[in-house]
Amino acid sequence: MAEIKNTNCRIDILSAAEHLSRAIQYKTISYENTNKMDNLEFLKFRLFLEDTFPHVFKNLKIDIINKMSILLKWEGIGQNAGAILLMAHMDVASVEAGTENNWSYPPFSGKISKGYIWGRGALDMKSQLMGILEAIEELLKNNFTPQNTIYLAFGHDEEIGGSGGNAHIADYLKEKGVTLSAVLDEGGFILKNAVAGVTKPLAVIGIAEKGTTTLELTSFSTGGHSSMPPRHTAIGKLATAIYRLEKKQFRPKLDGAAKEFLNTIITQMPLIKRIVLKNTWLFKPLVLKILTNSKTTNALVRTTIAVTMIEGGIKENILPQKAKANINFRILPGETITSIKEKVEKIIGCDGIEVKIKENSFNPIEPSSSSSEEYRIISKVVKSVFKETIVAPYLTVGLTDSRYYKNIASQIYRFCPIEMSIGDLNTIHGVNEKISIEAYEKLIKFFYLLIKEF
Ligand SMILES: [Zn+2]
Repeated sequence: MAEIKNTNCRIDILSAAEHLSRAIQYKTISYENTNKMDNLEFLKFRLFLEDTFPHVFKNLKIDIINKMSILLKWEGIGQNAGAILLMAHMDVASVEAGTENNWSYPPFSGKISKGYIWGRGALDMKSQLMGILEAIEELLKNNFTPQNTIYLAFGHDEEIGGSGGNAHIADYLKEKGVTLSAVLDEGGFILKNAVAGVTKPLAVIGIAEKGTTTLELTSFSTGGHSSMPPRHTAIGKLATAIYRLEKKQFRPKLDGAAKEFLNTIITQMPLIKRIVLKNTWLFKPLVLKILTNSKTTNALVRTTIAVTMIEGGIKENILPQKAKANINFRILPGETITSIKEKVEKIIGCDGIEVKIKENSFNPIEPSSSSSEEYRIISKVVKSVFKETIVAPYLTVGLTDSRYYKNIASQIYRFCPIEMSIGDLNTIHGVNEKISIEAYEKLIKFFYLLIKEF
């Protein structure tokens, strides 16, 4: 694959960093209780974007969807070029009460210090939103017009599921008969030392996405005084069911995106690992054992089970009539919400336990191609901006808003062109979220070149 010859991109990184710092200062926080959302803050944020990127908002067609989300359209001149959608969300996760003082700088200060821009949204994902706009602003200043029509979708409620934002944007585009040749949303990063044996930085591009469902298990029994109990109370029955599930687990599988990921990184590994991994037909049980031993790779090869909530009993000497548990499953492509529910009912196998599918369940998204023209372009731009980086397709284990576009998009990719360490990953939704100015500069350059290459 040829590298890009002209990688010049004259972004004024100091002013770009200043813009991102200001973007972080808007408290565009998503709350589960949507009444708590500060609509005015989102409006102010939009006005800030319009002020900061005058060329973008003058030349692109703007639609405000469901009052809060932004859809921009940059008309391409190519006759047969497919439309591309670039995504980023305006909202950020809240800062957990009591952790504010653990931050080096206040979480909404946007402080620029020690080579970093600090604050909530620095990684997830105001940097991507601002970076895309910086790149397009610069391209417009240079009188660039794209071949493909480029859409930008900036949702306002990704952190709480996206049902008010991208779900509406996707419906709107569908009604207009728009089809997309590719979607690029948040997802994998560029990590160093993420996989034992792989020394080069690894850029992982999500080509598929796990689904999710929460099953509510409720067990019932007759109440009464605890002095004459039955052998198993409602809580005891529920505990047995949970025990069986955790003990059994779902069978690990090596196929699809996880297999592609493994096949790509194998080439970088020391010989002995390479021999084992290359001959999965022979060593499959061993390979799966290695993968399931770490919680990161375990999530790539199986539907995971996490018991997240439990409730039951009202007084120490009263037999509970009911006990309830919420169990969250992250579903591998190939399975569905219904198939998981059936399997769970079979595993727990006890009478008197009701299994209910909770709201906000989503089936997995099957893999997009890792040999499409769009994937090749993304990969080429990564290698041009981030030297010596390995690009690997993989399975996104969290949910992204891109799933709303599955019916109108040929390919969906999930990737943030941000170089970081494993430690930085934990700051997302956590304490001291920050992006280095150097990484931010590369992010802008990535989008600048990506749009030019499309
Ligand atoms: Zn995000």
